[in-house]
Formats: sequence, structure tokens, C-alpha cells
Amino acid sequence: MTSPLAAEIRALIAAEGPLPVSRYMALCLGHPRYGYYMTRDPLGAKGDFTTAPEISQMFGELLGLWAVALWQQMGAPSAFSLVELGPGRGTLMADALRAARLLPAFGAAARVHLVETSPVLRAAQQRTLDACGVPLAWHGRIEDLPEGPAIVLANEFFDALPVDQYVRAADGWHERRVGLDADGALSFGLDPRPSPLADAFAASAAPDGAVLERMDPGPALALAAHLARHGGAALVIDYGHAGGFGDTLQALSHHRFADPLADPGGADLTAHVDFAALARVALGQGLAAFGPLGQGDFLIRLGLGARAERLMREAEPAGQDAIEAAALRLAGSGPGQMGELFKVLALSAPTVGVPPGFDPSERRGR
Ligand code: SAH
Repeated sequence: MTSPLAAEIRALIAAEGPLPVSRYMALCLGHPRYGYYMTRDPLGAKGDFTTAPEISQMFGELLGLWAVALWQQMGAPSAFSLVELGPGRGTLMADALRAARLLPAFGAAARVHLVETSPVLRAAQQRTLDACGVPLAWHGRIEDLPEGPAIVLANEFFDALPVDQYVRAADGWHERRVGLDADGALSFGLDPRPSPLADAFAASAAPDGAVLERMDPGPALALAAHLARHGGAALVIDYGHAGGFGDTLQALSHHRFADPLADPGGADLTAHVDFAALARVALGQGLAAFGPLGQGDFLIRLGLGARAERLMREAEPAGQDAIEAAALRLAGSGPGQMGELFKVLALSAPTVGVPPGFDPSERRGR
């Protein structure tokens, strides 16, 4: 089966040579016509993957309460941007705004800014959020956010950003590239020349065959620069690691892992988020970074237990089981549960102090 994007990528490689992994990933996810996110809503049981806000309203509600507490800590500015990066269907933001209604001044001060490239998901976000009674605006890039203090939420956004990969050999790091095999099919290969650049990213010595991943620092830098300049904080929730080596590029199709080269534009592609790199970018801009904490610990600190009990009291018996199962899926540490796999990193401007849900001892040093 050959998709139009696969044909286009093969022609590109034939003309220009093998592509860096980041270029391949960017084309698969963001090609204006055939990119994965440009053409579909990938979320939910019928899609390719499910996210925390789609599992339970409790997730967005607790993040909404986090935003309210943070806003108070910021001195309750009379106007601020409530920003979400990669808002999916808008579910998280809708749940957050509903929970935040307990403090009407928060809703009156909030302008919602959504950073989203997908036209399909922008339309879904508009449908979900139109009734919220808060002004909405969309932007294609973090750089386009308006001036002023910001509270930023990003759930499963950074894992969708392109990464480059380097593989260690005796003579140095070689960039991994997507090229063509003898039959003309997409295949991974290595740039024969070592890449001196990668030495600068590799924090420690690595054995032969080790894979180094490097995210494009642009979006993290834009986010950190905005918070440093205008004040506020960001909560980044994703699956990831704190540095080290390993190939984490993965494709998901219909809730199953797939070959990242098999169906360009037809399957989701992600890489685990390097939280240490994200924190380094933030510290470099003068922000403080806290965590990463396990998502389970973080949600429990924000009151997941009490929220689940409250919803269960109001629900029918069948609904009670579903609420309990959802709380476990969000916070549990077993297989298929998200509590430890997903991590939470907070970035905050110096004026904000320790973000809600974090302890001063969880502040990261340089
Ligand atoms: N946060 C949502 C959706 C996660 S899926 C949830 O938790 O359900 C990733 C989201 O990021 C989608 O909305 C996708 O369209 C968006 N996205 C992916 N790459 C992007 C980019 N480069 N710029 C802006 N948005 C992007």
C-alpha cells in the first residue's frame, strides 16, 4: 500500500538524500495536506490513542484548580492568558474552566489561547469551548502568543515534536536518517560521517550502539522566554525520561505499536520527552523548574481521591465503577496505568514561587 505522503517522501529522498529523523517526523505529523494531525482527530476508542483528559473529567478539573491556585499565587492579575499547547478536542480546557468557576474572578480575567496546528482539531476545540463564555484565540506557534502573564498547560504536546537521533560508533556519533533500501522502501540508515554536534548534546560517555535523541529546542525556548519575560508558569505532562540514551521513536495505530516507517502520515509518531533537556532550557532563561513528579503522585496531591469520592457519591452504581477505574488508570502504577509512566514538570517565573502541587525540595538545580 502506498500513500501519497509515502510517495512524496520517497521522491524527496531520491532527490535530496536521506532525511534527518526530525524532518521525517515533521512531514508525517505536519505535512499541510497529508500530515497525520492535519487530516484527522486521532483521539479516543475509534482513533489511535487515548489521553488523560479523554479518560476522565477529573484530570482537567484538577488542572483547572491548579491554575486557579497558581493565579492567586501570581497576585490574581486582572487579565492573563490561559494557554494550552496542543489542546486535542478541547476536553481538558473545558473541564478546567468548569472547575475554575468556583472562583468567578479567575474566569473573568482569563483569555484562552490555544496553540494548535491541526485544522480538524481546531474545529473540535471550537465546538467544545464555544459555550464556555471565555474569549478564545488560536495560534500556530508559541512565538505568536500575546504579551502578558500566562498560565500554560501542555498534556501530550511535547512528545509530538520532532526529534533527531544519533547512534554511537567507535569514531563518534552518527546521525540516524530515513533513506531508501535496495527495493526503494523507506529504511533507517546512518550518516557515514560522524556528527561533531552530537558530542555537545551527549552529557556522558556512551557505549557503541547507544542512541541519543535530541528534541528541537525551539518550542521549549519560546515557552520559557515568554514566561521569563511576562511572568507565569507552565505544567508539562507527558511520558518521558530524565536524560540518558535510548531509541524512543514510536508509532501508534489503533492503540497498537507499529513500525514508524510503515505508514507515513497514517500513524501517530512520538518520542519520549527529555524532561532534563526541557528543564535545562527553562533554567537557561532564568525560570525555576520543579519535578518531574509521577502523574499519579501529582494528581493525588491535587485532590484526586476526594474528587473521585465526590463524583462516586453522585453517580449510579455502574458509573461508580467507571469513576474508580478511571482514577486508577490516571494515577496507578501498574501495566496500562498512567500514574508513573506519565510525568509532570512545572516551569515558573521567579515571581511565582513554588507552583501548587510541588514541594520546594523538588526544585531542580542547574
Ligand atoms: N492535549 C490533548 C491532545 C494531545 S495530542 C489531550 O491530552 O487530549 C497532540 C496535540 O498537539 C494535538 O492537538 C495536535 O494537533 C497538537 N500538535 C501536534 N504538533 C503540534 C505543533 N507542532 N504545534 C502545535 N500543535 C501541535
